[in-house]
Formats: sequence, C-alpha cells, structure tokens
Amino acid sequence: MKTSKSGAASILSQLNTGAHNGVNPSISDSSTYVFNTAKDMSDTFEGTKEGCFLYSRHSTPSNNMLASSLAAMEGSEAAHVFGSGMGAITAVLFQLCTAEDHIVSSRTIYGGTYALLKNFMPKYGVQTSFVDTTDLQAVTAAITPKTKVLYCEAMSNPLLEISDIEALAAIAQKYQLTLVVDNTFTPLMITPLKHGAHIVIHSLTKFINGTSDAVAGVVCATEDFCNSLRDVNQGAAMLFGSTLDSQRAASIHKNLKTLPIRMAKHSENAYCIAQGLQQAGFKVMYPGLDGHKGKHTLEKQLEPGFGYGGLMTLDAGSLEKANALMEAMQDAGVGYLAVSLGFYKTLFSASGSSTSSEISKEEQIQMGLGEGLIRFSIGLDHMPEETLALILTCIDKVALHKGA
Ligand code: PLP
Repeated sequence: MKTSKSGAASILSQLNTGAHNGVNPSISDSSTYVFNTAKDMSDTFEGTKEGCFLYSRHSTPSNNMLASSLAAMEGSEAAHVFGSGMGAITAVLFQLCTAEDHIVSSRTIYGGTYALLKNFMPKYGVQTSFVDTTDLQAVTAAITPKTKVLYCEAMSNPLLEISDIEALAAIAQKYQLTLVVDNTFTPLMITPLKHGAHIVIHSLTKFINGTSDAVAGVVCATEDFCNSLRDVNQGAAMLFGSTLDSQRAASIHKNLKTLPIRMAKHSENAYCIAQGLQQAGFKVMYPGLDGHKGKHTLEKQLEPGFGYGGLMTLDAGSLEKANALMEAMQDAGVGYLAVSLGFYKTLFSASGSSTSSEISKEEQIQMGLGEGLIRFSIGLDHMPEETLALILTCIDKVALHKGA
C-alpha cells in the first residue's frame, strides 16, 4: 500500500488490491471492531496499543487507505479524511485555536469558511482579521501577539487570487504561526507543503472526487497533528464527529486514480474558453491568461502537466445579465446552473448571490466581487472550441456588453 513516490506519480503507482485478489481494495463495512482480548481494548483506548481499530468515528481501514493516498499526493506524513470539506476546516481551526487566539485569513475565501471565521468562532473567543493575503505587508500588519494561524486558499474562491505560499510561510515562520492552506481549487497543480505550508486541506467534494456524488474533506499534515485530531479526549475530528463513510471513502479513492488526467483536461478546456472569451472582448479572469495578477506567482508554484486550473470567471456586469446568461447557457446545454466545482459537466453560478453570499455586499464590493461575476467550473468536454462557440452564442442572445 505504501509508496515511495509522491505527487501525481503516487496516485497510480499504489497497489491497492482487495480480498480474493480484487483489483479494488475491499471496503470495511463495519462501525465497530472485535478485540481479541479485553486488554487490547483498554490499551487501544488508552493509546498505548496500535494496530487495532476502535470505532469507525475514529478511523476505518477504507478511510485510512484514502487518507494515505492523499498524504502521498500532498507529500505529508499523514492525513485524516472527513465527512466534508467544512468538517476538515472546522476541525483544524478548533484544534489549533483556543479562546483569545487570533487568526489572520485571506479575505477572499469560500463563503462557508468566511462565515465560520467571522460569525461562529468569535462565539468561542477566536477572532479573525481578514486581509488581502497577496499583500504581504497587510498580512504582517494584521499579526498580533495572539495570532496563531495564517489561513488562505492556494487559489481563492471565487476571485482566483493566487497565494504566494513561500512568502506566507516565511511570515508564518517569523511569527511562529501555523500556515493552513486550502488547496481545493488546485489539487496536483500546487503542492503547498513543498512551499512551506504546515497543513493542507481539501474539500474532496470537488475535483478530487470529480463526480459530484459525495461530500468529503481531508487534512494532510504531520502524524502528530493527525493523531491529535483523532484523540479520544481532545481531538476535534473524533469529538465533532464529521466522519466519512467507508463506502464513500472507497468510491472517492477510485475516482482519485483519474485525477491527473482530469485536471489536465479541465485546465486545457478552461484555458481555451477563457482565452476565446477574452479575445472576443469580454471581462474574463483566468490565472493562465496574460494580465492576470497572480499568473507569475502561480507559475512559480505550478507542478508541470496540469495547466492553470479548471476555474474561470466572467463578469456580466449586473446580476440581471448574469442570471440571463446562466439560464441561456443551461438551456443551450453548456452545463448546469449549479454551485460546486470539479464536475465533468461545466457548472456555473453567480458567486455573490450563492457561494459567497455569506460575505456582506459591502465587503464583496471592497474585494472586487461584483454581483454580475459568474464563476465557471469548466468540465471535461471533448472539444472545448465547441463549448466556447456555444457560450458566445448565449452571450449574443442576452446581449452582453463587451468589457462588461
Ligand atoms: N473550501 C473551498 C475552497 C470550497 O469551495 C468549499 C465548498 O465549496 C469548501 C472548502 C467546503 O467544502 P464542503 O462543501 O465539502 O464542505
């Protein structure tokens, strides 16, 4: 099961055969496990004996197998899988912080994470300052003696800003902070631990699973940190109980095997469509296009072979135009008017009134998130030129202004 390879190379090199020499690993279909002796049971609960499973909220063979593949992919010592990306984020932040602690976070992050930091954690005495993490001076200025965590997304949701992880890691080291990076938008493209991050989180719901049929998350970190999450007395994974079901872990594990080819195709298609829309004069944001503020920073960190990612945005100028365009695109078969990302069909949503609606309108304007901004997760269409042509027809139909 263990492999010496890391990154994309680790994904297919693992030999995960199952019972009776099945080509897929067997699924552990149990919530509880038999101990051979009473002493084994008490020692396992005390943490003095390894090798026995105690209860499936703690860990399961199938979950551990998925976790170990994801640890290999991210180059971490260990990993722990969760029932959702938010389950992973919540567990990490509550594990790291206690009352009176402070977090410095990127201001452009997934709306759920923003709501957790802004509305929920203050109830437990943990405050967050939101800054533009591409502005390193602003990051440093926000740090206080109480700061424990520096939090960002490698490529941010929905503005596709790029974090300079190496530079943030240097700040984290100087002020003794834990740098936590959500890598949901850029699996395989960026390996944050290589650039100095301490903890990497993914919502597996997105690209890693890729079939929009499961909700799951993962934390890739040191063995010690993952063990602390699972601790029966103090562990946020064990005690909050955001557990992934073994059947789902097994299906996500199978989908992981095609992630390298899927990421390359998502990126190829997104590049083609973003470039075409830009050339036609529309206001597109895509990190692979010249003129994108984060292109250079992204290229510094990119692993070869996976392009610039599957996400792009198009500013329709107003919510009314954005809605009309999304409905026209759905009718024309471009894809689905749906949140989430990483699916084989193209998905689109107006971020300001959906996945970023937790962020107040005022703050959305401040960070440059216009109400007409449509986020696209570009799918795996065989001929992206045809998808581009279809989008352009829809744009024509709703009379979108150039440079809107
Ligand atoms: N992180 C990012 C960047 C996301 O976009 C999302 C969800 O959209 C999450 C985390 C939360 O993941 P989940 O929906 O699996 O809880």
